Amino acid sequence: MSATSTCKSWCTDHQEPNECYTEYVIYDNGVDERRTPPAPGSMAALFDYPKDIGWIKFCAGQDEEDEQPVMDLHFFEPGDVEPIVRLPLDTNVIKGLHSELGALLINFS
Ligand SMILES: [Zn+2]
Repeated sequence: MSATSTCKSWCTDHQEPNECYTEYVIYDNGVDERRTPPAPGSMAALFDYPKDIGWIKFCAGQDEEDEQPVMDLHFFEPGDVEPIVRLPLDTNVIKGLHSELGALLINFS
């Protein structure tokens, strides 16, 4: 459903009965398939991370009972449409993350 006149400015996909909602893919490595994990017990398996993240989606929703938007980052394995990890965030955490990451990246540019 498209945004209505009572929607939040960020609402792109209004939900029934009455929740403002939006989502954006904020990262996609472009890989459509999961990698093959190293053989169990092999040297490579010792240094293997349990999961590769293929893409990340930012989701925000807010209904009448929410004072603030409820925001999450959802992390997906390559090619998957169901998230394997959800990171709940509030505005201050996101701003902090943005600022920390920005400050860190200056050292690498
Ligand atoms: Zn809305």
